[in-house]
Amino acid sequence: MRILVVEDEARLSDALCEILRAQKYMVDAVFDGQTGLSFAEGGAYDLIILDVMLPTLNGFEVVSALRRRKCETPVLMLTAKDLVPDKVKGLDAGADDYMTKPFSPEELLARIRVLTRRRGEVLLDTLAFDDISLSLASCELSCIHTAKTVRLNYKETELLKLFLTHPNRIFSKDELILKVWGYDSEASDNNVEAYISFLRKKLSFIGSRCQPVALKKIGYKLEVTVC
Ligand code: CA
Repeated sequence: MRILVVEDEARLSDALCEILRAQKYMVDAVFDGQTGLSFAEGGAYDLIILDVMLPTLNGFEVVSALRRRKCETPVLMLTAKDLVPDKVKGLDAGADDYMTKPFSPEELLARIRVLTRRRGEVLLDTLAFDDISLSLASCELSCIHTAKTVRLNYKETELLKLFLTHPNRIFSKDELILKVWGYDSEASDNNVEAYISFLRKKLSFIGSRCQPVALKKIGYKLEVTVC
């Protein structure tokens, strides 16, 4: 489970990250609205914790931009303001829940559990494209033509999930590193190439006609290859 924290107060951001990492969530922290929007947009997060008062774009602007761009990641807004009109404004803009500072870690974690559970109910737990389907619960990749199945590891699942949720989109290596390994990781192009090659082997193994295709100097895209 990957969470994006958009909070400009460094101490609060650090505290949030510490609470979340202690629960084994993978966390990326950014400190202004514009950066938050560009990180959130890719859809690689399961939840976004978003402050209201932020530099560049405020939290209301970030969440409404995300919803306009059809990014449905759950958003938990976090603010010192506990005025009813602000809560309404946040929820109207597309936030899923609202929490006022100061808050207890227990309350934060409880709300995260609710939001991510709710998401699990509305989203399919299986992603499909052409002749393949990926079960997110078991990380099993199957080919409908051959009925063969193979288990993917965590990174392979995250990588394929990106391709399956954005069919026909080309991902650069930098984007894949950011979305699969995280923004503070030391992963390099070699890691991406290695995992793309693992995915290719597994897709071939189950007899799928889908393959991640390298587009020179641009990135990778999942394509149906015609024999
Ligand atoms: Ca703030």
